[in-house]
Amino acid sequence: MSLNLYNTLTRRIEPFEPLDARQVRMYTCGPTVYHFVHIGNFRTFIFQDVLRRYLKYRGYPLTHVMNITDVDDKIIANAKASELPIGDYTERFTQAFLQDMKTLRIQQPEVMPRATDHIGEMVALVRRLDEKGITYARDGSIYFRIAAFPGYGKLSGVELNSGSSQSRIDSDEYGKENPSDFVLWKAHKEGEECWDTELGSGRPGWHLECSAMGMKYLGESFDIHCGGVDLVFPHHENEIAQSEGATGKPFVKYWVHGAHLIVDGEKMSKSAGNFYTLRDLLDKGVDPSALRYLLQSVHYRRQLNFTFEGVEQARAAIRRVDDFLQKVREAPTEGIDENPDMTRKLGQARAAFEAAMDDDLNVSEALAALFELLKQANICLDCGDLGSVNRKQILRLFADANQIFDVFQLEPTQLEDREILQLIEERLEARKNRRFQRADEIRDDLIKRGIILEDTKEGTRWKRAH
Ligand code: AMP
Ligand code: ZN
Repeated sequence: MSLNLYNTLTRRIEPFEPLDARQVRMYTCGPTVYHFVHIGNFRTFIFQDVLRRYLKYRGYPLTHVMNITDVDDKIIANAKASELPIGDYTERFTQAFLQDMKTLRIQQPEVMPRATDHIGEMVALVRRLDEKGITYARDGSIYFRIAAFPGYGKLSGVELNSGSSQSRIDSDEYGKENPSDFVLWKAHKEGEECWDTELGSGRPGWHLECSAMGMKYLGESFDIHCGGVDLVFPHHENEIAQSEGATGKPFVKYWVHGAHLIVDGEKMSKSAGNFYTLRDLLDKGVDPSALRYLLQSVHYRRQLNFTFEGVEQARAAIRRVDDFLQKVREAPTEGIDENPDMTRKLGQARAAFEAAMDDDLNVSEALAALFELLKQANICLDCGDLGSVNRKQILRLFADANQIFDVFQLEPTQLEDREILQLIEERLEARKNRRFQRADEIRDDLIKRGIILEDTKEGTRWKRAH
């Protein structure tokens, strides 16, 4: 078996065959940094992290790019309201995002480009489209002429009207030829930050950045492009139009989209106001591993309803595995090298785990395979006939699975000095931001792990309890 993925472009589950097996190239749309990222966004980023990690598990060398959208209407409006240049405004939320990624153990992609560092590439792309006659200008803005790109709609299935200039609708704010045409370059508006370029003074449209940065770092054609389902149309449809319109080559082979995190039946979103940030949840005492477990445990193409009960169940599931692994580490195995029945069950569990992941990243089935093994091994532990070979096999299976899930405790806890200092730092930061519950939680966790903190005028000191 090998990895199979659902491809939005072909509407089928397909075997994953990279364009170049020496280097898999993947692009995932990153956050718009106008606020703290909410856990709905993180559901998508975690599913992409699972894909990233499973590709590596399967031995593919990977280049993964995730952009940071650091210029758009909301950013401009919020920066203005806070009387900050947009760079200063977005930096705070970019750093917060990177910190949150770490907390949720989302691996850093190889490249994390910012839109505002790639205005030159975007301008060059518009020039290329210009040369092909696929653009037109209106009042200082530049538009993509959908009627000049026959493949438009192939990803999302949207059907647009003919798009000829006869259907021109003047009520549109910029007077586009066709209401479906989209903006590549927005003319400068009074009071807004802008770039002076060959296209005139203005700023890029949102879709443009992903085409320009994707092609810059991954080439004109690459393997995988991901996002949440809301990005299929118009964002990804427009990315295809811009990229293929310019190069004449297929832009992306596999389009992979994740379903939403919902709350009370509604999409979690900033605009609906029904969202939690990671920080909100940490303040409520939510364990980040439990949240990661919950967000990845439901198949990425199924909606997931967020509840605190779900977080509790996730925490219990992790604890069950951690307790089990502890028991396995401590089990007496003298006199038994190998229990062949257990070896066979371990082989089956690994095969079931991989088959589930190969099947379009069926994480819930993959976890079920681990829990089935846990049940079988517990019987073996209770009878006292676990072999030393089996102990190693079990620990290896969970370590391998943890390369992807990254929520289980594989080693007996032994905190390094460096980690202690990091936690002290995090506690200080939490207190500064009045997240006292989180601060106390860190202190209590450290106590449990044998580290005592002492707050002094010179700062926090620590020592190991005897
Ligand atoms: P944005 O910062 O709005 O561009 O979104 C970043 C990513 O989060 C995109 O891939 C979106 O599709 C995804 N996203 C937005 N809302 C949700 C949600 N409620 N559940 C899952 N993913 C979401
Ligand atoms: Zn994008």
